[in-house]
Amino acid sequence: MPLLKKGSKAYSIFYLKCPCCHKGETFETSSWSLVKPVEMLQRCPKCNLNYYPEPGYYYGAMFISYIWTGWFCLLFIAFFHWFLGWSQMASFGLLITFLALNFIYIFRISRLMWLNINVKYDPEATLKFGKNAYEPLKTHSP
Ligand SMILES: [Zn+2]
Repeated sequence: MPLLKKGSKAYSIFYLKCPCCHKGETFETSSWSLVKPVEMLQRCPKCNLNYYPEPGYYYGAMFISYIWTGWFCLLFIAFFHWFLGWSQMASFGLLITFLALNFIYIFRISRLMWLNINVKYDPEATLKFGKNAYEPLKTHSP
């Protein structure tokens, strides 16, 4: 049984699935592959949701990332230093290692958090694909 159920925002965020249909991928490659780490797909391959609704759309994801990683770092250090009694050097060393290894995944889930704030889950989104539910992709310059 999966840890997170399809239909919840957490499922879309942590599995990096389209926030509308929860089926399509948002990134082409794995979060730890180092190939195309930050290139997001233009549209959902399953429901055609536009992942770039306007220029600079992911500017907001930067603030989301800042807020949650700030709290994460604080709680991480508090847990290892105060609760487990590790030294400051060891706690920060582990934190920095953890953040460096998961940098791309953190970047990606921050984008998915931002998308999930703005897009609602629609279980029938894939059925509407091709029935003019969403505008077809117009000319897009990179
Ligand atoms: Zn989708």
